[in-house]
Amino acid sequence: MLSISLELPEFEVIKQLSFSNQYFVHVQKKCHEERCPYCGFMTSYVHDRRTRKVRDLPILNHSVCLFVLVKRYQCQNCQSVFSESYESIQPNKQQTNRYREYLFELCQDTTIQDVSRKQKIPYSILERIYYSVAQEKAALHQKQIHEALDKDERVLSLDEVSVQKGHRYETVLTEAKLGCVIGMHKD
Ligand SMILES: [Zn+2]
Repeated sequence: MLSISLELPEFEVIKQLSFSNQYFVHVQKKCHEERCPYCGFMTSYVHDRRTRKVRDLPILNHSVCLFVLVKRYQCQNCQSVFSESYESIQPNKQQTNRYREYLFELCQDTTIQDVSRKQKIPYSILERIYYSVAQEKAALHQKQIHEALDKDERVLSLDEVSVQKGHRYETVLTEAKLGCVIGMHKD
């Protein structure tokens, strides 16, 4: 059987199953300790394990399903029980980050309907993924703008633009590197 290289360094492969048009890959996180999200204490005490099914990027025209063996830890400081976290999968998502990104890019080139059919993902789910990735990208862009402004790395440019067919002029202040308008002033 073909051995699949996932290129998700945080995981080790436990088992691979190959079917006519899909791969099932059982994985677990290599790391055996986790920081408690409530108090910050490191713990390696495993409370229980459960399996979570997550879609990943297709390989050689096969769809890929990851079966992630999720460890739930119990904090030895505050007794909270929590699941381990992943770099490549967000909490409560049924697709890896890179697969969500891939679906978003596919939808940019064609229609959600077309991608839904080809990737065999229900339209409503794909639509939700598309808009949530778009939102994440917008939030990231906003964050980058604020970081650039905070670092005082502004490259400001002042331009006069004519409005109302040249009857009026306004001064526009833009951040040249980010290409965004910061303010406008009527003359
Ligand atoms: Zn804790």
